[in-house]
Amino acid sequence: MPITKNAPRVDVNKRRIINGADTDVVQLYPMKHKFAWHYYNTSNANHWLPTEISMQLDIEEWKSPTALNAEERQAFETVLGFFTTADSIAANNIVMAFYRHVTSPEVRMYLLRQAYEEAIHTHAYQYIVESLGMDQGKIFNMYREADSIYNKAEFILSFNEGIFNPSFKTGTFESDQKFLENWCVFSLILEGIFFYSSFAVMFGFQRQHKLTGSAEQIQYIMRDESMHLNFGVEIINEIKKEQPELWTSDFQQHIIDLVKKAAKLEYTYAQEVFPKGIFGMNADGFKQYIEHIADRRLARVGLPAQFGVQNPFPWMSEAIDLSKEKNFFETRVTEYQVGGQLSW
Ligand code: FE
Repeated sequence: MPITKNAPRVDVNKRRIINGADTDVVQLYPMKHKFAWHYYNTSNANHWLPTEISMQLDIEEWKSPTALNAEERQAFETVLGFFTTADSIAANNIVMAFYRHVTSPEVRMYLLRQAYEEAIHTHAYQYIVESLGMDQGKIFNMYREADSIYNKAEFILSFNEGIFNPSFKTGTFESDQKFLENWCVFSLILEGIFFYSSFAVMFGFQRQHKLTGSAEQIQYIMRDESMHLNFGVEIINEIKKEQPELWTSDFQQHIIDLVKKAAKLEYTYAQEVFPKGIFGMNADGFKQYIEHIADRRLARVGLPAQFGVQNPFPWMSEAIDLSKEKNFFETRVTEYQVGGQLSW
């Protein structure tokens, strides 16, 4: 956007998530979407790095011929196979789709932080794979080679088509709906559904006191991801407010259909991770868990529940609610919430 000397000052009332008229994307103040600033600051206070978490016990368990059985090893590898590429897919979309078309500087500030967090997550998976001496080629290629991971990745990546095109622009009814669809898919489905059976697997290990270093990595990731999901929900609801004409009944049904399709892809994936069930979690339990969270994601954007089932893994809500985990922060090497660490 060219700069005009002594142009009239920014009118914050004309600021929009997308298609902001009279918006200067360089000028943070005045701020309209204050929730984004809150998310930016909260994320900074949650800062962490994978290398702060000790992997020693996991290394011993992974090397030991008896600490883990064949099902547990297979489940752990498959979950990492999904994770290692999923956050890179999320990061690309933030930079190539969200960031390019968002016209609110405060929303862009959080997106920069979110993109960095996706990089930290990919780093965490790399760190686990490297620490345990796992087969990197096998794990990092699973999104192309394991059917159920491929199917999820292929579904998500199809929503990059068109929108990654350099000539894509918001500002028409069709392109704005396409942009909103992309946000619904990445926040509600990728971050809100596709991560969750893998999270459940990792907390299954944690509950058995197995692979606890890896589980702790994933616990930090899950805290970040629940912020990403919540932020995405705020954005979707704000775009609905700013451009209500986009949220047609056809479009609502389309989003419901996508969520239902995604739930099916996700529990098919869970079946592949646990062909025989593990830690008291079986294929039926996963199906019900995925349907339960799919209904919750729909509710957050004002769409009706499709499955109406109870949560079969109530302990997952406890794992998500990290503020109740008394010992969680005690394992940390660095505490970013405390200021004044730098001396000059
Ligand atoms: Fe994310």
